[in-house]
Amino acid sequence: MTGTFVGMPSFPTAARSALADETLRGNLRYATHTIRDKRAKAVAELDDWALLREAGKQIKDHTLRNLDRYLLQLEEAVTAAGGVVHWAADAAEANRIVADLVKATGESEVVKVKSMATQEIGLNEALAAEGISAYETDLAELIVQLGDDRPSHILVPAIHRNRGEIRTIFASEMGKWGRAAPDGLSDAPGELAEAARLHLREKFLRAKVGISGANFMVAETGTLAVFESEGNGRMCLTLPETLISVVGIEKVVPTWRDLEVFLQTLPRSSTAERMNPYTTMWTGTTDGDGPSAFHLVLLDNGRTATLADETGRQALRCIRCSACLNVCPVYERAGGHAYGSVYPGPIGAILSPQLRGTGSEIDASLPYASSLCGACYEVCPVAIDIPEVLVHLRDRVAHQGCRGHFLERAAIKAAGWVFEHPGALAAGERAATATRRLHPSRLPGAGAWTNSRDLPPMPPESFRDWWRRNRTRGAAPAGGRKDDGS
Ligand code: SF4
Repeated sequence: MTGTFVGMPSFPTAARSALADETLRGNLRYATHTIRDKRAKAVAELDDWALLREAGKQIKDHTLRNLDRYLLQLEEAVTAAGGVVHWAADAAEANRIVADLVKATGESEVVKVKSMATQEIGLNEALAAEGISAYETDLAELIVQLGDDRPSHILVPAIHRNRGEIRTIFASEMGKWGRAAPDGLSDAPGELAEAARLHLREKFLRAKVGISGANFMVAETGTLAVFESEGNGRMCLTLPETLISVVGIEKVVPTWRDLEVFLQTLPRSSTAERMNPYTTMWTGTTDGDGPSAFHLVLLDNGRTATLADETGRQALRCIRCSACLNVCPVYERAGGHAYGSVYPGPIGAILSPQLRGTGSEIDASLPYASSLCGACYEVCPVAIDIPEVLVHLRDRVAHQGCRGHFLERAAIKAAGWVFEHPGALAAGERAATATRRLHPSRLPGAGAWTNSRDLPPMPPESFRDWWRRNRTRGAAPAGGRKDDGS
């Protein structure tokens, strides 16, 4: 069973303990810097990257604007190809559907392809409550599951673990779940990979039910696509007799042609590869080839509500490449667990509060888990303006009264009035400069901010006054010399 995010404290509280963990910070720094440098090189190889990025954005926006139409088209195509489509409004309904489908096969074990959607709904825990064991088969997910841990990165869920820690987990835990790790296992990557391979192969060959998500669903043909790097997904998608895919409704694209864009942008943005190592696509069922039963569970779980928000809906463009995590200075230091969700980093800071609402302590704090530097926007292959959505969500949180000291709200209101009245602003500036030697270095009521930051020194003259003295027609030049502006 993987640990859950239920009852997480606010981001600042959770991040504080992560910041004190030097091993964690070292692991994160090494991993994120390595991936981000490789990504930059892979992206720089394409002259038309900016056009691909714009195309990805427009495809997603067009699909989201017509989501009802494309989902119905998808349902029709999947059904015509021999699949069964189920609609789940929330996590509980999706979990119920999947558990009933597994029980109907008479099986009590399933193998899983790495899937954010099933983590989002807590599927493994829901299946365990029904007596069904779900085995993760992605290497990093296996490490997280065996370690009774939580994922901390979208693409590399065990990014917070180093090789020594992974060796210890394999040696002590594998035997409890199936084939044990070999005696004398070292932390050499080859040995660790071989131990995982042997452990998982046993499960692939025994499992009758596979569970997956999908990176994309093509409405015109009913085709689903999974992009992965290890081949475990290919095994789960082809060997079992029954395949159940749980997919967020925003993952649909209209046509095969649209995939062409994402086949280029997703691998380069995520693993810095020119082409994805394993791209598995399937359409319904085919006699004598692959699973004989296919179920598609279309998951809403807050997506429709997100779609209704004009600014926030761009988060639904996300293709889960994780490029934004790898460049984020906050993620690099705080790690993924502090975000209290399977979606960490910048995308998690805008997606979780929209999917789950901003009612809880953790969700109300997430829009503030950013310096708004904009690095996430620069690398996003579908051009999600994450800083814009963060500010939008901060506004929502401030207005719901969950966050924001009353002094802060009063100060912002007063500042708004002053900026609307230039005369008052000029008078205030003159008063501030005249009394500048008396200004305190710390602000009462804002100690948490000013205890660790210096207030900028007040200039002896406001810019407006300086401009009036130096730049208005007939004004005496400053210092006796007239600046020619060159
Ligand atoms: S927000 Fe953009 S950069 Fe971040 S995971 Fe999603 S698609 Fe990738």
